[in-house]
Amino acid sequence: MLDELRNLYQEVILDHGKDPRNFRKPDNANCEATGLNPLCGDRLVVYLSVDESNIVQDAAFLGNGCAISMASASMMTEIIRGKTKFEAEELFRRFHEMCTSDEKADFSDDEDIERLMVLSGVRQFPVRVKCATLAWHTMDAALKGEEEATTER
Ligand code: ZN
Repeated sequence: MLDELRNLYQEVILDHGKDPRNFRKPDNANCEATGLNPLCGDRLVVYLSVDESNIVQDAAFLGNGCAISMASASMMTEIIRGKTKFEAEELFRRFHEMCTSDEKADFSDDEDIERLMVLSGVRQFPVRVKCATLAWHTMDAALKGEEEATTER
């Protein structure tokens, strides 16, 4: 990767890490789950408000952890709002693939996945993959009605 691009990616991660969006507990959340990444010490709670049409009306989180886990949660809550449950799950699947696959898949057809590309650098650091995907695992658990998600399963 070009150094300039890498710096840009780091800036986005640091920005979201320092000033996470949707860092709050909504009053009307009807799905929530706690996510733990014991390897790094990341711990967060994801709150979702899903309406009767299965659309995520609100997404927020609280917790603490490293910059990557916070940035990933922050970006996720921005991206999944307005999506259906199905679309959110599909994004999780693609994001996970992006973080773990060695192959350079082309995700440029999807602007949400393109935004998440800034986190794909974790691919080179398997321990960091868990930081980047923790919020998504937790969102997935919340949608499935599970109370807890851990990266150690
Ligand atoms: Zn972490």
